[in-house]
Amino acid sequence: MVKFADRYLKVCPWEVIEEGFKQEYSRVSESIFSLGNEYMGVRGYFDEGYSGDQLVGSYMNGVFEEEKITPLGDYKSMVTNTSYMINTVDWLYTRITVDEETLDLAKSKITNFIRCLDMKRGILTREFIWSTTSGKNIKISFVRFLSMSNSKLGCQQVSLEAINFSGKVNVKSALDFSPIHETSKKNLWNCVKKSKEENIIGILSRTSVSGHMILSACQINNIPQEDMQLIDEDKCIGFNFNMNLSQGAKKSFEKMVVNHTEKDGTVSIEKTWKDGMEAAIRFCTLSYNAILEEQVRYWSNAWDNSDIVIEGDPENQQGIRYCIFQMHQTYHGEDPSLNIGAKGLTGEAYGGNAFWDTETYCLPFYIFNNPKAARNLLEYRYRTLPKAIERAKGLDCEGAFYPIATLDGSENCALWQHSSLQLQASTAVAYGIWHYQKIMRDKTFLYSKGIEILLQVSRMLASRGQWSQKTGEFGFYSVMGPDEFQMMVNNNCYTNIMGKKTFEYTLEVFEEMKKDNSQQLLEICEKLKIRDEEPETWKTMAEKMFIPLDEETGLYEQQDGFFNLPHIDINSIPVIDFPLYHNWSYDRIYRNDMIKQPDVLMFIFLYNQEFSKITKKINYEYYEPRCIHESSLSPSIHSIFASELGKHQEAFDFFGFATRMDLDNYNRNTREGLHTTSIAAAWMNIVYGFGGMRSDGAKLSFNPSIPKSWTSYRFNILYLGYHINVKVSKENVVFKTLSEANIEIEVYGEKIIVGSEGLAIEMPGYWRG
Ligand code: BGC
Repeated sequence: MVKFADRYLKVCPWEVIEEGFKQEYSRVSESIFSLGNEYMGVRGYFDEGYSGDQLVGSYMNGVFEEEKITPLGDYKSMVTNTSYMINTVDWLYTRITVDEETLDLAKSKITNFIRCLDMKRGILTREFIWSTTSGKNIKISFVRFLSMSNSKLGCQQVSLEAINFSGKVNVKSALDFSPIHETSKKNLWNCVKKSKEENIIGILSRTSVSGHMILSACQINNIPQEDMQLIDEDKCIGFNFNMNLSQGAKKSFEKMVVNHTEKDGTVSIEKTWKDGMEAAIRFCTLSYNAILEEQVRYWSNAWDNSDIVIEGDPENQQGIRYCIFQMHQTYHGEDPSLNIGAKGLTGEAYGGNAFWDTETYCLPFYIFNNPKAARNLLEYRYRTLPKAIERAKGLDCEGAFYPIATLDGSENCALWQHSSLQLQASTAVAYGIWHYQKIMRDKTFLYSKGIEILLQVSRMLASRGQWSQKTGEFGFYSVMGPDEFQMMVNNNCYTNIMGKKTFEYTLEVFEEMKKDNSQQLLEICEKLKIRDEEPETWKTMAEKMFIPLDEETGLYEQQDGFFNLPHIDINSIPVIDFPLYHNWSYDRIYRNDMIKQPDVLMFIFLYNQEFSKITKKINYEYYEPRCIHESSLSPSIHSIFASELGKHQEAFDFFGFATRMDLDNYNRNTREGLHTTSIAAAWMNIVYGFGGMRSDGAKLSFNPSIPKSWTSYRFNILYLGYHINVKVSKENVVFKTLSEANIEIEVYGEKIIVGSEGLAIEMPGYWRG
């Protein structure tokens, strides 16, 4: 894997700092300095406008536009309607003019530029000195943050300090719905109402097709009222005012913004306006400092519980904190109608869509840090179950077929090979329920909503799978597994195993409920019209599931005929051919044994404890050299395997860019947005990889190792309602609960009881890096 860091940011433990402004890094920085609070997200674009390359990305989670697409040919069940996340209101809009010259970092002379993301407090600051052509020097600072406690609220502070003059600076501060959506190259908003009520200005805009609405409202504090004028343009409302600066004195104003979204097409403009304005009156009138203090408290608490400390590796220390910061920002379980897009709320790539990434990559972080968020991610799948049922019908299946890419539960992926052939979104939901349940033991969810999902997914699998006429075994035909470089294959091993596991778990819960909660089960079965013979059929299908395992070698065959495919030495592919999707004809990718991301290794990872070390070794050593990691989700899984197999250097090499994927722009596409879901994989890389945690067995277990260059590292996990702190150093591993509790876990194969006094266990030689 040839990837190089493109580092221009300072390495600090708690901050991401950019010193000096370089235009060529501007788009990358916009992504890196993104803020979010689950409800909304904003790229680090410049408040004051910028005529260079920029993406004014201000996103509201779940707000999208949709359009009809015409598939080629009159084929049934092609996706004909697609929705995509769009940029919304530029609520940071500020323009600063001195002597008829408007500040623009693409053209203006600036010095002492410094931008800082303070991860400890969840605040972004930027300052520089502007030297105007008329010879005036002004120090300008911007502060912004998105409140984690009142998620509709965003705050901005702008400060101006005249260094070598006294005089007027003209400022425009507004709420602007005119930014262009980059992919469609159009503005997608129609303004339907605007007004000024007391000190609050508001603007309500709506999209043309989806009918989504946003009311953006703000109050600006500390601006001179005398010569203030209202700006009232087509898609923009704001204030134009002059700040009278005295040499050496700093003047600031604060803009408190509420963005209120309405995605339900049945709600009127009047009601949306009323609800939004009520929220604005409530939040925009709060004191800036009080909100800031609350923000600091929120983050302090989040860090107390979920920080990872690495001693001896400042780059990865910063990197992992950045990942944890982005995870909390993107989602923290406030609203079960929201999910986690592959790029979070940081860019338009992937259209804001959520994938199977949520359950396979992100869910573990939340299960062990924020169980409410984990549950709400599953709740999202319950809420979107009706759409999955509809989709299944379109695909001539029964039950529920979950979309591969989605915003509101509908399938958004127009590539039929992916949307019709990939079953891993559905099996990932079943896996997510199983994993969450195993750790959280949340029977209330399981017996009400979880079981409904499981029954519907099993039903789909039963109707989608088929029997081999030769062997009489059950399997899935014409599918695409996680390795998207194999398009329409039979008996993809991952899909078959996950199908089998889904049947088995559904039946396990079914039997459990028969004993413990038969009435509720009866009601659900009646509601779903479960036929008497269905559970028995699923049992037979699970038993007869074909698992392509070569008993002689111990290798799982990725799909029928995989071992027969022409071999390609992936090291012979010139670096300039990557990414292959852009440089090889589409069909060429499918014609050999090269894989895009873990497939066999993925199910072994998900059900780790069911496979022997020798099986892991054999399969890792076969599939790893065939994998080109064209998905950023891939290297961390390999690193986790390498750790377990005692290949410590290899584990560290694969980990190499996991935490700094975006900070060092390894894939050279950070400009499009952050790799949010692989950020979750970086967390797994430390906790499951080096920490050796396994959460798929009867007990939580650990086999910690430590990379050579690290002095120590420590992390917390929330388990059975208690925080366990794990500190790994060269000599030993110390486990400690952070409150009075005794918890049984397994470490290096031995059962231990962890309490608040802590327990040190010597690290066996095998695990020392
Ligand atoms: C990967 C998928 C993943 C998607 C979003 C694709 O490149 O192949 O597995 O779900 O990206 O991250």
